[in-house]
Amino acid sequence: MSRSASKESIAVVGGGIIGLSVAMELLRNGKRVTVIERDMPMQACSAGNAGYLSEANIFPPASPDMLWQIPKLLLAKDGPLVIRPSYIGQMLPWGRRALSVLNLEAHSKVTDTLAAMTRLSFESISKLASQAGAAELLTRNGGLVAFKTIAGLEKKAAAIDTWNRYGFAVKRLSGHQMRELEPALVPEIIGGLLFERSGRCSNPQRLGLRYAEYLRNHGVEFVQDEVKALAWTPNGEVEVQGTRSEVCYSQAVVCGGFWSGVLMKRFFRTVPLVSERGYHLMLPSPGLTLSRPIVFGEPHFAATPMDEGLRLAGTAEFARWDSPPSWTRADMLLSLAQKYLRHVDGRQAKPWMGIRPSLPDGLPAIGTVPDAPGIHYAFGHAHNGLTLSGVTAQCVAALVHGTEPPVSVAPMALARFN
Ligand SMILES: Cc1cc2nc3c(=O)[nH]c(=O)nc-3n(C[C@H](O)[C@H](O)[C@H](O)COP(=O)(O)OP(=O)(O)OC[C@H]3O[C@@H](n4cnc5c(N)ncnc54)[C@H](O)[C@@H]3O)c2cc1C
Repeated sequence: MSRSASKESIAVVGGGIIGLSVAMELLRNGKRVTVIERDMPMQACSAGNAGYLSEANIFPPASPDMLWQIPKLLLAKDGPLVIRPSYIGQMLPWGRRALSVLNLEAHSKVTDTLAAMTRLSFESISKLASQAGAAELLTRNGGLVAFKTIAGLEKKAAAIDTWNRYGFAVKRLSGHQMRELEPALVPEIIGGLLFERSGRCSNPQRLGLRYAEYLRNHGVEFVQDEVKALAWTPNGEVEVQGTRSEVCYSQAVVCGGFWSGVLMKRFFRTVPLVSERGYHLMLPSPGLTLSRPIVFGEPHFAATPMDEGLRLAGTAEFARWDSPPSWTRADMLLSLAQKYLRHVDGRQAKPWMGIRPSLPDGLPAIGTVPDAPGIHYAFGHAHNGLTLSGVTAQCVAALVHGTEPPVSVAPMALARFN
């Protein structure tokens, strides 16, 4: 027999950056909120990301180039992007859907939606951070992409028109201009791009933990439990079935990152979520200073200055979420960084692995279950979850209240995969 939570109460399943941001936004709107997290908040993917608040990440993951690389990806053991053989079965349907976004119309739908989201991202996250007393963790002085080859730079620069069309401030810089901004870059960097209005978070885990603290201090209940299923009851409530209790709420929001698929499968025919594992290497005394995040284009990885040192992050490893981490992938980041940054000191480096919740078209899943109007979802943010956390929270709050979201959520409905 399930008990009912108080009237107008909302359960948020998942205490990562998405769940906590949703809880912050709902609290701001005067709702009674309960966060249900099986672990402690901010221990999963959101704990160790690169902290880059990037306006520029608006393109789907698949590109025509990728088609040619597939055989290499399947064979490579330690490239920046690998697919583990035991995961190929899950990847085939995902890959088919990812490639279907290559047509112009589908591609524009993704970039239009992501651009509308990233445009609002810094302001929305800043609002939540200020409310939680964590504004000092955010900085907005741009982000760089750096190249060693003209070919690499030209290929990236081909997207400048698209970014300009969406109103993003992008500047092409020479190698000299890049080093003026970031003297630690090696002389072999021939140029790059500056995204002037991108920003960073100097400690993504602390940001989420400050949200959690603020939420607790303002009456939000935290329940440590694993949610096994959600059900829409005949009297219009959501029964949240946990391992320890069953409680009815007036509405619920699934923000379980990669694990959201398990909960959503009973409502949708297909939830093509895969585990795209990424690694970071934290250098406590890197021996150099950066002022902003730098993404290196060849191969793709990032370096972000953090409160506790320099964070090298990236690589994509499509693999079962629970298979043992391949720590060589984190170590690999140090040898890459040494080719791009002067005098990198890797002593006492600490590796970390996180599971990006990745959907094939690059859009997150944000919406409401069609036959269960009190069950909402927000997950699948892949490489963009920190950046999109605030604006996602605003979209979810609008779904809960039945008001107009700041960005149309229709293209992000899970039903797009049916
Ligand atoms: C190496 C790396 C670098 C990255 N860099 C950036 C970056 O620079 N900028 C950026 O914007 N993004 C970045 N990302 C992506 C970003 O970190 C993710 O998109 C984001 O953290 C996803 O947040 P989430 O809250 O959806 O998931 P998570 O952080 O994984 O949280 C989900 C939570 O739900 C809980 N949960 C799941 N199922 C249940 C259940 N049934 N019951 C109870 N609890 C449950 C889990 O325990 C977990 O705590 C990076 C990711 C990686 C791996």
